Amino acid sequence: MDLQQKLAVLADAAKYDASCASNSGVQRTSRNSNGVGSVTGAGICHSFTPDGRCVSLLKILLTNYCIYDCLYCVNRVSSDVQRARFTPDEVVQLTLDFYWRNYIEGLFLSSGVIRNPDYTMEQVVAVARKLRVEHEFRGYIHLKTIPEASQALIDEAGRYADRISINIELPTRADLAQLAPEKNAERIQQAMGAIRERIDASAEERKDGAGGTGFAAAGQTTQMIVGATDAPDHTILQQATTLYSNYKLRRVYYSAFSPIPSASSKLPLLAPPLVREHRLYQADWLMRFYGFQAHEITSQAAPNLDLRIDPKLAWALRNRHAFPVDVNKAPRALLLRVPGLGVRNVDRIIQARRWSSVRLADLIRLRVPIKKALPFIEAADHHPGRELDSDRLAARLKPPPEQMDLFSAPEASVLDGQL
Ligand code: SF4
Repeated sequence: MDLQQKLAVLADAAKYDASCASNSGVQRTSRNSNGVGSVTGAGICHSFTPDGRCVSLLKILLTNYCIYDCLYCVNRVSSDVQRARFTPDEVVQLTLDFYWRNYIEGLFLSSGVIRNPDYTMEQVVAVARKLRVEHEFRGYIHLKTIPEASQALIDEAGRYADRISINIELPTRADLAQLAPEKNAERIQQAMGAIRERIDASAEERKDGAGGTGFAAAGQTTQMIVGATDAPDHTILQQATTLYSNYKLRRVYYSAFSPIPSASSKLPLLAPPLVREHRLYQADWLMRFYGFQAHEITSQAAPNLDLRIDPKLAWALRNRHAFPVDVNKAPRALLLRVPGLGVRNVDRIIQARRWSSVRLADLIRLRVPIKKALPFIEAADHHPGRELDSDRLAARLKPPPEQMDLFSAPEASVLDGQL
């Protein structure tokens, strides 16, 4: 199998990892035409750095062979997909070739487990070491690490990588035992804890002026598969809360389970609706930037997110007693609870009201979605009156039903967190 064929197989296999958006678009080429440009299956995806920059990454697996048999995974040992394997040198060469041609700014590298976790991790680390030490590569590197690998190897990975991640895989231990019995939830969390300690220690050293590139300066992330088991959104958001607070993760990525060929009977026949993944991302933004707790967004009694409206609007409709909120007087924390007022606009409103009373025209100028916010706010020239108590309010604010498809763009709020 030549390098191009390996690239096709191993870039395609990496698309199931949600840690950066994969190039799942239609393939096009301008070859033999008068046009320019092409979209190929070369595994280039986009990801966001901690300072908000969008970077293009070569997103590939080192290999899609795997000795494990996680039932939800297309690369599991019992799957009959086409297999391929790069050598570390091939990955290094591909990364440098793509980099020199200005296609990418970095590498996202994951791998199935070959022989054993340490052997696999050695290969992954060898790629990063060669790039950083032999070629003095300064681009972005995100390494997916294997929790069962030795701490020394994970430490070395963290020294070369900007970001490292370990997949939590499924929302509960019981889910993991059912679908990925070779994986150990405790071991995964221990590895995350150790990474957190290294990241904290390295941040302290940098604060003390010790210098150096530090340990995974862009933090650690994880991915959770949604819809492969019957774990409700409440459980998923509780788990995310634990991960954020215990391990200081930068992001939890939610990946809607996609049915795979020759699937086990333990898996659902259908994928969950993609909108569920979107709603979880919106709920996640609410927990990280809007001061919401998981139990406010979902509860034991209503364990799943409303798929028709975003979770902030759903909360406001359930808690009408908390409104209207006066945009000229309310504290930041309350403004953040108003549907349609994103973090950016809340900060602009607070700035603006220092100088003069905020009126509806000011909100329109700030591009606040007025129809959504109006029933929940007071402004210098607006009071919602009895609108808040109307039985028809929820129906008026719900968008008309529409068919979602795999390739439609997600709601902007899923990407920028303005809810
Ligand atoms: S260890 Fe990773 S690659 Fe291997 S079967 Fe499980 S999820 Fe798939």
